[in-house]
Amino acid sequence: MTEHLNLNEMAGEGLLENPYLLVSLFDQHDILRAANPPFCEAYGARTDGSMSWEQLIRENYEQQRGVRIRADDIEAWIRSAYSRRGKQPFRGFEADLTDGRWIWMTETILPNRWMLCVGMDITHQRQEGRELRYARDLALREASTDVLTGISNRRAMMRNLQQQVRSAAEQKRQLHIALIDIDHFKAVNDTYGHATGDQVLIHFARTLQACIRREDACGRVGGEEFLLLLPDVGQQQALQICERLLERLRTSHPLAQLPAFRYSASVGMTSLQDDTDTARLLALADGALYEAKRSGRDRIVFRSAAEISN
Ligand code: GH3
Ligand code: MG
Ligand code: MG
Repeated sequence: MTEHLNLNEMAGEGLLENPYLLVSLFDQHDILRAANPPFCEAYGARTDGSMSWEQLIRENYEQQRGVRIRADDIEAWIRSAYSRRGKQPFRGFEADLTDGRWIWMTETILPNRWMLCVGMDITHQRQEGRELRYARDLALREASTDVLTGISNRRAMMRNLQQQVRSAAEQKRQLHIALIDIDHFKAVNDTYGHATGDQVLIHFARTLQACIRREDACGRVGGEEFLLLLPDVGQQQALQICERLLERLRTSHPLAQLPAFRYSASVGMTSLQDDTDTARLLALADGALYEAKRSGRDRIVFRSAAEISN
């Protein structure tokens, strides 16, 4: 009962009862916690706390219901969707459902980090130019996506970094950034071939995404180099997130055809101080990464601006 009242309060008065909107509420771990009948019906959703957003998408794809997914590779589609989901306080986009309806979907991050999603039926509105808008959205998405791994590319990450630095500085919020580089990757290519190297890169991107929070952004910024943005966390939690990633890499078996194969990565981390120059921030992270490599790899080195100027 209290839970229901809270959910109603969070979603906004009467929103969950609105029969004309598709309303859903996901917690900070992306578990579906509440949804109204129109949403449950369209998406085949369960609101008993047993369904994550990813599960919902996978079931939608398998059963051809809910959101229409135009992709041959659902894994790449999910990685790409994760690279946009929950990265901003608010976003809206046009989407179509398998039943032929078009909806205007908004995603709002609530103060408790839950996400409120509201879909409005726009099937009979803005029909003109829909194909064109869809093609433009797709092109924009593609321009921000790394072709191999499906996560954000360098261009998107540099834009993300600029935005995050600006908003963290304005709102006096913390921001940690990490550069992560796969260890001895050249040897993977040389020993097992380029295609196997590609498989490792995809495995890395998937593992990285699985280790971070919904609000964290990650992308591939070089051949085997990745950038991670961790807003609103202190140093200890930022280190913990990266430590979890390195531990997950150490214990994973990324290649089915080579069960004994293992790999690791090194992390250079820094945090935003008074200086909001993104080039300097990247240079600090890069210096820390160099140090992590030099001192033995498979580790994290943190370097702050204060340490350097001392
Ligand atoms: P370190 O531990 O010092 O980082 O050594 P490393 O071998 O990982 O670093 P190095 O910079 O020498 O090698 C990076 C390699 O990554 C060289 C390049 O051929 C490979 N590479 C870059 N992009 C791709 C890609 O898209 N696919 C594959 N398979 N390999 C790539
Ligand atoms: Mg490397
Ligand atoms: Mg490198």
